[in-house]
Amino acid sequence: MPVEALGPYDKDNIFARILRGEIPCRKVHETEYALAFHDINPQAPVHVLVIPKGPYRSWADFSHLASEAEIAGFVRAVGEVARMLELEAPGYRLLANAGLAAHQEVPHLHVHVFGGKPLGPMLVR
Ligand code: 5GP
Repeated sequence: MPVEALGPYDKDNIFARILRGEIPCRKVHETEYALAFHDINPQAPVHVLVIPKGPYRSWADFSHLASEAEIAGFVRAVGEVARMLELEAPGYRLLANAGLAAHQEVPHLHVHVFGGKPLGPMLVR
């Protein structure tokens, strides 16, 4: 079910539970500010999720409320993941769903990193 981009943070959402170690994940990268792990239902040969460690529901409240260090740390982590997975030369796609129209399902900010094959046009037509 899609969720709204704004509103109170649900501390029991699935990614909060992954961050607390209550649910396992296939970790790709971890920094002070971010965790990256493989998506459980990959939509491309490479499909990794990068999430900030702080309690942010979507890009909307992250951009309003996160500190400069959190924002820089998260953005750097996304770039580091692309580099670590050798996606820079062939190319890759970043996607962040926010709210109902974008069909965001997990109410903790995440950036999808897709790669490993030609990805085609940007949106389903
Ligand atoms: P959204 O639609 O919110 O942008 O994407 C949520 C993503 O989280 C989906 O691609 C879905 O497969 C992934 N996901 C949902 N639950 C889990 C989980 O428990 N573990 C992992 N690794 N990914 C999950």
